[in-house]
Amino acid sequence: MRKPIVVGNWKMHKTVEESVELVEELKPLVAEIGDVEIGVCPPFTSLSEVSRVLRGSNINLGAQDMYWEPQGAYTGEISAGMLLSVGCRYVIVGHSERRTYFGETDEWVNRKVRAALEAGLVPIMCVGETLEQRQKGITQEVVDRQVTEGLRGLSPEQVAGMVIAYEPVWAIGTGLTAEPEQAQEVQAFIRARIRQLFGEEAADSVRIQYGGSIKPENAREIFLQPDVDGGLVGGASLEADSFARIVRAAM
Ligand code: PEP
Repeated sequence: MRKPIVVGNWKMHKTVEESVELVEELKPLVAEIGDVEIGVCPPFTSLSEVSRVLRGSNINLGAQDMYWEPQGAYTGEISAGMLLSVGCRYVIVGHSERRTYFGETDEWVNRKVRAALEAGLVPIMCVGETLEQRQKGITQEVVDRQVTEGLRGLSPEQVAGMVIAYEPVWAIGTGLTAEPEQAQEVQAFIRARIRQLFGEEAADSVRIQYGGSIKPENAREIFLQPDVDGGLVGGASLEADSFARIVRAAM
């Protein structure tokens, strides 16, 4: 049995003060929940303070990106070791906004995933097709390439311990949500590919989240799908009550 995992991606929102306020509000709302893994990914500037507030709670900390080198002259970048030093457990890698606005390639995503795993972070690797690609009927082809390239060189054990987020680009921040059956279809495909590439155990263990305009109102129906192991939540994670309701929907 895979434990569902619900993670909030705050993107470029919240000052340090606002971040602390949000997690202070969230903590008691989810304190009793043990059968869903919970995480929040604030901006880099808030990680340290949020980490302090989350200490001893059932909410884990994650970052929204990282660089694959351990240190060096890479102005503006953050390493896996730095994320670990502020208490991060997860790092989102290959989010579609990074692929679209910052030119991230599958090869970069793969380097980041490998560096995260080697350092002891749990990567949340995002994949998903654009509207144009869906309309062209090449969703599986696109997702197949992102999964195959993104996971290149990993061991079955490493794949088993990570998280993949299927996020159709047309559903992110648009208010459009994939139908539960659409999410299930692609996520079952991803798991089947992982089975072919890395074997039964990795496929059965890897958690595959859905992401794209999840709200308290639509979360349960999506989370009920057999290959959906929770969600990556953007907009609705910026408010404690709506995020807590989404976490509950995964119970
Ligand atoms: C995301 O950015 O990962 C996401 C799913 O955003 P939203 O929930 O706002 O669509």
